[in-house]
Amino acid sequence: MSALGVPLLLADVAAGGTAGVRELFIQTAYIVASILFILGLRSLTKPDEARRGMQMAALGMLFAIIGTLLHEGIVTYTWIIIGLVVGSAIGYPLGKFVPMTAMPQRIAFSHMFGALAATLVGVGEYWHMFLDGTVTDPSAVRGKMVALGFEVLFGALTVTGSFMAFGKLQELITGRPITYKGQNAVNMALFAGAIGCFLYLIYDPANVTVFFVMTALAFAIGILMVLPIGGADMPVVVSLLNSYAGLAASATGFAIGNNVLIICGALDGASGFLLSVLMSKAMNRSFGNVLFGAFGAAPTGGSAKSVEGLTVKSISAEDAAVQLAYASKVIVVPGYGMAVSQAQHQVRELAELIEKKGGEVKYAIHPVAGRMPGHMNVLLAEANVPYDRMYDMEEINDQFPEADVAVVIGANDVVNPAAKTDPGSPIYGMPILNVNQAKSVIVLKRSMNAGFAGIENELFYDERTNMLFGDAKASLGKLVSEVKTL
Ligand code: NDP
Repeated sequence: MSALGVPLLLADVAAGGTAGVRELFIQTAYIVASILFILGLRSLTKPDEARRGMQMAALGMLFAIIGTLLHEGIVTYTWIIIGLVVGSAIGYPLGKFVPMTAMPQRIAFSHMFGALAATLVGVGEYWHMFLDGTVTDPSAVRGKMVALGFEVLFGALTVTGSFMAFGKLQELITGRPITYKGQNAVNMALFAGAIGCFLYLIYDPANVTVFFVMTALAFAIGILMVLPIGGADMPVVVSLLNSYAGLAASATGFAIGNNVLIICGALDGASGFLLSVLMSKAMNRSFGNVLFGAFGAAPTGGSAKSVEGLTVKSISAEDAAVQLAYASKVIVVPGYGMAVSQAQHQVRELAELIEKKGGEVKYAIHPVAGRMPGHMNVLLAEANVPYDRMYDMEEINDQFPEADVAVVIGANDVVNPAAKTDPGSPIYGMPILNVNQAKSVIVLKRSMNAGFAGIENELFYDERTNMLFGDAKASLGKLVSEVKTL
């Protein structure tokens, strides 16, 4: 609605026009929805308000849907009701039953549908204009073609890109990067071809062949773009595709004149992009390295340092329990292994026992611990760990030297000192938690296997470190029973 639209609308409402009242209602619903989306996003920045943020965003979506359902352009509600039933039947179980560890692929799956919706709206609108012949002067719709072309281009590549990301994360296809000679050149050429079609369509919007060639190229780009990226880098890719889906939705809003789509698409696009940048930064990787570096593939190697000749000390649950029960300051460092074994409830139980015995327990959260941003916060919050005990890396890193025990639960890369000491390491430069500065360290993991980066970790061989081998949940269960007996 333009600035002039508001007074015109109010004038229409004052004159008793039903169309004006309807439009006023729709635009009000859209404004309320947009405000709720913005407040929701803001709340998501704080763990203790994140749940409320999601609720606000969901309420915003309800307003947006209600506003859209009142649109005068709706001819029949039959298909909308069918869509509502089918969508709810798929969406509810996806939200309710998919485990936290499968959240990245679930998000990729939802993006695929979001982008598919944007693409179909774009194709439908184009069809309506040129195949149903509602447009007689193509040069008059050049402006609209910019939005439509953008929507279909980014929408289509997000559909197949998200599907590939889902397949890699779910291990339906190999998570290893699939590379071949000249791959980047082929991808660039296809992308240039798609952009060429897009630009041509602005000049000649009625060229249906070019429109569908552009759409087909965009679908192919989505697949080929994700092929060379390792499965473990998929969260960054999903977040980037999220921003593309947002841009496509925003373009849809411009193409069909829908304000809430423009606003929430822009919010989605910007937040997805910022998140991808932040994730890459926290991993000390450039965007280019994530997208073209074929990282996360190699099972081992990379580190210039070898651990030959170093020995590992393992500890029994009984001895570890004694250490913990009498510690006055304990820092818990959760990682991907905690998510895999779903050990968060046992972590909280152990912390409560330590506190009962007079110790203080804090949680140190690395920004890329686990496999998606906020992974650890969400799991610990689910287990009712108080928010004020969870500390970001910068807040807690100086406190490790005072910790009697640092308990590492299924974390590896985020506590690897090679990030500071070994310039040959692939993670060199990544900020890490200073676990090696604690007075003693207990590491819970199943074996000496590497983490995501596929490299050795000297922390495990440090003289102050003891390894408690086994599944994290099982080991914590034993620790809890042992501490109870002390
Ligand atoms: P890591 O992947 O480095 O290590 C996880 C460790 O958990 C493994 O060494 C594994 O050892 C152990 N483990 C797995 N299952 C269990 C289990 N059931 N019980 C106990 N231990 C288990 O995890 P971190 O959290 O330290 O680091 C995250 C990595 O992921 C970083 O390299 C980061 O860059 C990357 N990443 C993070 C993203 C994010 O947004 N958070 C996105 C993309 C990548 P073992 O097999 O011996 O048990």
